[in-house]
This record gives sequence, structure tokens and C-alpha cells, in this order.
Amino acid sequence: MVSRVIPAPDFDLVLFGATGDLAQRKILPGLFHRFAVGQMPPAARIIGVARSKMDATGFRAQLEKSLAAFAPQIAEDRALLERFLASVDYLRVDVMGEDGWKDLARNLRPNVVRAFYLSVSPSLFGVIASKLSSFEASTAESRIVVEKPFGHDLQSARALNADLRQGFKERQIYRIDHYLGKETVQNLMALRFANALWEPLWNATHIDHVQITVAESLGVEGRGEYYDKSGAMRDMVQNHLMQLLCLTAMEPPSKFDPNAVRDEKVKVIEALEPVGPGDIVRGQYRGQNRQGGYHEQAGDPNSRTESFVAMKVGIGNWRWAGTPFYLRTGKKLRGRASEIAVVFRDPPHMIFPKMEHRRGNAMIIRLQPDEGITLRNTIKEPGPGGFRLAEVNLDMTFADALKEKADPQDAYERLIMDVIRGDQTLFMRGDEVEAAWAWADPIIEAWEASNQMPEPYDAGSSGPEDALMLLHKEGRRWREIA
Ligand code: NAP
Repeated sequence: MVSRVIPAPDFDLVLFGATGDLAQRKILPGLFHRFAVGQMPPAARIIGVARSKMDATGFRAQLEKSLAAFAPQIAEDRALLERFLASVDYLRVDVMGEDGWKDLARNLRPNVVRAFYLSVSPSLFGVIASKLSSFEASTAESRIVVEKPFGHDLQSARALNADLRQGFKERQIYRIDHYLGKETVQNLMALRFANALWEPLWNATHIDHVQITVAESLGVEGRGEYYDKSGAMRDMVQNHLMQLLCLTAMEPPSKFDPNAVRDEKVKVIEALEPVGPGDIVRGQYRGQNRQGGYHEQAGDPNSRTESFVAMKVGIGNWRWAGTPFYLRTGKKLRGRASEIAVVFRDPPHMIFPKMEHRRGNAMIIRLQPDEGITLRNTIKEPGPGGFRLAEVNLDMTFADALKEKADPQDAYERLIMDVIRGDQTLFMRGDEVEAAWAWADPIIEAWEASNQMPEPYDAGSSGPEDALMLLHKEGRRWREIA
């Protein structure tokens, strides 16, 4: 059975920053893919907006090159490519000026979904939101989509929220965290709330701890200057890891409805306990012979910015009291892996001989590579010679399990189509973003006040020694980064 593609409603999507990296590398190739599978209605239009001096023909020529590079398989189909390019237009607007806005407003069709995607610097969100409204390009039903970073602290996040609300209501605002567009992340909700099997075990009585890891093998090459102002805590923990933690820890919502789901996520963030200095490790990778290390790549020999964070987080509520969540993320680690590992407690009474290196039951939810779920079970080791136990994995790699049904779609594709359908479930709400900053700010402020250097770790390793100790001292250990 091939997956059912449900066409989206007809739309006009205005893409601000259409000539930029994200638009050319992710957003437009993603839309092309949706077009190819028949999800983008034939009449739907994409209107690119930027300052670059060109007309629609020039923009299509630029886009054709990007599609050849970032959607090569479908771009080979010339007829398909030409039909897609015909749905793309370009309008030259400097959003800081007054010109072009009236043309934009005139160009949009009534009675179709109208979405404005802001793939531009957050410093332009306010001016775009208010001009869309004052030039009557937006309506009460239009949607506005924004990208991370959503602020660099609570104050700036509040200011951005206020900027967006100049022209749009919360129900019209879609804040993208592409982690939420990943199939496995959504599957976490299906797994928890569509099965009777797991939810009775999903609490501190049965779960010893949870490990959330987002490990990257690349460093900050090429992005050093931007990253150096941010660091792992702002770039990864406050948003992506926090979202994964929320979906793992939240209470079952009363219904699968955007606000019901997001209400539960906010409650988790509000229940997070303060993280003490002994429960957190910051690291910074070093290269060899003063080459390839963070300092060289960031271009600042004195930088104190962390490229790695590991921490123990407590959730102060009835379900999770006594079950720590360990978060870990870093660059230039020994492998690239994103996963949530839910580690269960041992049986209360063991009737079998002690098993060496027993790790116990765990559910591993893999986001990348090879999205899927693994269940680690203990069984009898086959064969004669006494009753010995062994650990085996029940493995479900989605690409294998759902081979015939799979319509592989990138996280961006899924999220853009959710915008068109008007489904905010997988987008962060303003209060959620602010709550996450309110939790992260004191941690970052304490680091800044301490003036301490992050702990160095070797590029290609598993991170700083102290990060290993964070678990070792409590009789636990991190899963290997493959
Ligand atoms: P970028 O390559 O610098 O592109 C910025 C875009 O904004 C360009 O199309 C630029 O076009 C346009 N622009 C700038 N000033 C403008 C103005 N006054 N009026 C109209 N258009 C203007 O940036 P990017 O990497 O694509 O990132 C876009 C946003 O996504 C940023 O907020 C970034 O933080 C976020 N983001 C990016 C990535 C990524 O992988 N790139 C990932 C996550 C989030 P002209 O120069 O032609 O005007």
C-alpha cells in the first residue's frame, strides 16, 4: 500500500528571504518535493521576496540551480521542474522601505490560504509583521512563519513575540523548530498515547532515568562567528532538547489539539527544577597542534563559548520526582546521533544468576540516523549449558518496517504543509518559548558571571571527562555515541 497523499488547500506562500541559504537549501526544495508527490495544489503559488535585483525569470534560474543541488532526483524530471517553476514568482522588496508592499498586497488572491514565511534575520520580524498589516497584505486568517533563533534570552524573546503580535494573533503565528517535524518525534506521541502498553510504565516508579542526546560530528566550520555569540545552550538545549524533553515527559493531553498539546508542554517546562552548578558540564572542543579546535574555527582565541553541554535535570511533579533527565549535546563528537533513551528500572527481585554488564530494559527512540525505535530486552541465551541471560534488541527501523508506505519527507516539508493546513500542534507557542528562556537564562547568567572556561575535550571524543562523571557518580552511564 502506498501512502495516501492528501492535497493541501490552495495557497499563496510569500517567502521573505527567498534568495537566502535556508530558502534555497531547505524550504524551496521541500516545497518542490511536496509538489512532486501531488500535495501542493496545481494553482498554489510561491512568491519569493528579497532585495536582490532580478525578475521572476532570474529568480527561477537561481532556483533551478538550487533544486538541481538539493532535490537532484526529482529535478531530473524536466517537465515536473518546469511546472513547479511556473508556480514561483519573485518580487523585489527591501522590507525596510515603503516600495513594493502595495504590489505584494495586490498580487495576493482572496479566498486561498495566505502564508508569510520569514526566512530572514529576526531583527526584521517586527517591521515585516507591521507592514504586512498596514499595507493590508495580511488578513485575519493569514499565517506567519518564523525561524529560530527565537530570541537569545527571555527579554529578547518577549520583544520578538511583541513584534509579531503587531500584526498577527497567536493563532496565526507558527514558530518553527524543525526537530518537531521529524517523524520519530511525532511517533513519540503516537507511541505514548495510542498504545495501552507504555503509559502505565511511563513514570518514576518504572523509569530509572532518561537520556536525551544530540551529538554532531561536525564543528562550527563556516558558522563560527554566529555560533560564538550563541553556544550549545542557546543553539540546542533551550529549543531542540527542551522540545524532546517536553514530549517525553508531558502528561497525556485531553485531545490531539494544538493548544491541548502545548498546554501540557508548558507545564513540563514550568516544573523543571533549577539546575545546580554540580549538575552541569560545559565543554569546548580542541584540535591538535592548535588546528581544527573551537578557538581556531570561531576565530577568537579567548572565546568562552561552550560547544558541548551535559546536564542533569529534575522535573518536580508527581510523575517524574526521582527520575532524572540527562541532556547532552555537542559538536565535534565521535559520531552524529540524536536519540532519546528511556531506561527502565530493574525487576524488584531477580531470580536468575547475576548477569555481567547488564544494562536492563530500555526504549531507544532514534531521530537520526535511521529513524526508528529499539527496545532492549533480556532473554535466555540460546543453547545448552545452564540458564544464562542475554540482552537483545527488538528493532523497528521505520524505513524497513514501513517500506511500502513511506513517503520520506524532510522535517521542513511536513511543517510547511502543517502551516498550510492550519495545524499548530508542532509549532512552539509564544508562552512556551518564553518559559524555556526563563529556565535557561539563570544557567547562562551564572556561567557568564563565573568567567570560567568550558572544559576542553578532544575533537572526535565523547565529550569532557566530567560529563561522563555526571552519570558515573550516580551509578549510571551514558549510551555510547556511535
Ligand atoms: P541568509 O542566507 O543571510 O538570507 C537572508 C535573506 O534575507 C536573503 O534572501 C536576503 O536577500 C534577505 N534580506 C535581508 N535583508 C533584507 C531586507 N531588508 N529586505 C528584504 N530581504 C532581505 O540567511 P539564512 O541562513 O537563509 O537564514 C534565514 C533565517 O533562518 C535566519 O533567521 C536564520 O537564523 C534562520 N535559520 C537558518 C538556518 C540555515 O540553515 N541557514 C537554520 C535555522 C534557522 P537579499 O540580500 O537578496 O535581500
